Amino acid sequence: MENCVFCQIIKGKIPTEFLYQDKEIAAFNDINPKAPVHILVVPKRHIEKLQDVSDNEESLLGKILLAVKKIAESQKIDKSGYRVVVNCGEGAGQVVPHLHFHLLAWPKSKRR
Ligand code: AMP
Ligand code: ZN
Repeated sequence: MENCVFCQIIKGKIPTEFLYQDKEIAAFNDINPKAPVHILVVPKRHIEKLQDVSDNEESLLGKILLAVKKIAESQKIDKSGYRVVVNCGEGAGQVVPHLHFHLLAWPKSKRR
C-alpha cells in the first residue's frame, strides 16, 4: 500500500524506532501519545481493519496479542497494568486504515 503511513514505517521509508519486530509484526511509539506509554502494534501485512481479517487468521491475531504481552513486559508495564484498544473502522474512530492495536499505560512512575 503506497500511501499507507504504517506500511511506509514498516518498509523503513519513515525512520522509526521499532520497540518490537518479528516476521509478521512490528511495534513503535504513537506519534501523538494519549498516555505516558502509547505503543502501536501492527501486522506487517497491510490489513485495513479487524473486519477484514479472515476466519483462518487466528494465528496472526493470537501472535499480535502475544506480542502485546511481550512488549508490556519489556516496557515494564505488565505488573502495573495496561489497556489494549482496537478501533474497528471509521465509525469507531479509526483514522489510519492499517489494523493496529493501541497499547496504553499510565504507570505510576510516569504520572505527573
Ligand atoms: P486510530 O485512531 O485508531 O486509527 O489511531 C491511529 C493512531 O496512529 C493515532 O493514535 C495517531 O497518533 C497514530 N499515528 C498516525 N501517524 C503516525 C505515525 N507516522 N507514527 C506513529 N503513529 C502515528
Ligand atoms: Zn498499510
